[in-house]
Amino acid sequence: MKKSGILGYPLGHSISPYFQNAAFINLGIEATYEAWPVDPVQLPKRIQALREPDVMGANVTIPYKELVIPLLDEIDDWALKIGSVNTIVNQSGILVGYNTDATGFLRAISEYGNYEPSGKDVLLIGAGGAARAAAHAFMESKVNTLWIANRTYDRAKRLADEFLENGKVKPIGLDDPEFRKSASSVSLIVNSTSLGMKHTLDSHIDPLEGFSIENSTLINDMVYNPLDTPMLINAKNRGVRTLSGLPMLVLQGAASFELWTSKQAPVDVMFSSARKALIAQSD
Ligand code: NAP
Repeated sequence: MKKSGILGYPLGHSISPYFQNAAFINLGIEATYEAWPVDPVQLPKRIQALREPDVMGANVTIPYKELVIPLLDEIDDWALKIGSVNTIVNQSGILVGYNTDATGFLRAISEYGNYEPSGKDVLLIGAGGAARAAAHAFMESKVNTLWIANRTYDRAKRLADEFLENGKVKPIGLDDPEFRKSASSVSLIVNSTSLGMKHTLDSHIDPLEGFSIENSTLINDMVYNPLDTPMLINAKNRGVRTLSGLPMLVLQGAASFELWTSKQAPVDVMFSSARKALIAQSD
C-alpha cells in the first residue's frame, strides 16, 4: 500500500484526506492519504521519511509551505517563483517541490467562474501565502491591473514590489479609499484572507460589507469552510456572481494527485466527497 498525506501544524479539520482517498478508491489505486500533523521540531525528520519507497509524496499546508523548501532536492519553476511549496513528490528518493495552488486557482476561476483574467482589472484582498499564489497566477495570465488590498499595507507593498517591472500592481491598505473604489471598477474580486472562515473570531466578517459592486463582477472567496461565507451570501443577495473556495481546493488537490499517480484525477468524485465532508463538519 502506497502512502501520501498532508503535513501541517496544527492540521485542524483538513478535508483533503476525504477527497484524496475517494479518488484513490475510485481509480482502484492501492494507496492512502493521511493527516500528518508535524511539530516544527520534527519537520526535517518527517521530510526525510518521505524518501521511503512506499511514500508517493505529500501536501504541505500552514505553516510549512516556505519552510520545506531548503529540505527538498528540486523545486519546480512555479513553486520557486511563488516561494512556496504545497506538494512534494517522492521520485525514487529524490524530493521535488511543486506549487499547485496557483494552477488550481486559475483553473477554478476559469472552469467554475467562467473568468479569464488576461487583460482585466482584478482586486485581490490579502497578501499572505494564498495571495502570493494568486498574484503570480494573475501576472502570468497578463492581467491589466492587479490591486492588492491588505490589512498590513507593508505586506501588500512587498508582494507588489516583486512585480515592479511592469507597474501594473497597486498595493493598498484596507482603510484606503482606493480599496472601495477599486472594488467597484474591477471584474473580479478575490478574498484570500481568513476573514469569514469558520471557527475563527472573524467568521462573521464580509470584507466588502457596504461596498457598491457591479452585478457582472465575479466574487471569489478562497475560504471554503463554510462554503457560503458572509461575503458570498451578501454578494448573492445583491445579485452578484460568486465562486466559493471549494473549486480551488479540489483542483489544487487534483493537480497534486496527478503528480503522485501520473493518472487523471477523478475531479467529480473529489468534488462530491469534499462537499460531503464539509457538510458533515457543519452539522
Ligand atoms: P496567511 O498567509 O496567514 O495570510 C492571511 C491573510 O489574511 C493576510 O493577508 C492577513 O493580513 C489577512 N488577515 C488575517 N486576519 C485578518 C483580519 N482580521 N482582517 C484583515 N485581514 C486579515 O494565510 P493563507 O495561507 O494565505 O490563507 C488565507 C486563507 O485562504 C485561509 O482562509 C485559507 O483557508 C484560504 N486558502 C484556501 C485555499 C483553497 O484551495 N481554497 C488555498 C490556500 C488558502 P495581514 O497581512 O495584515 O496579517
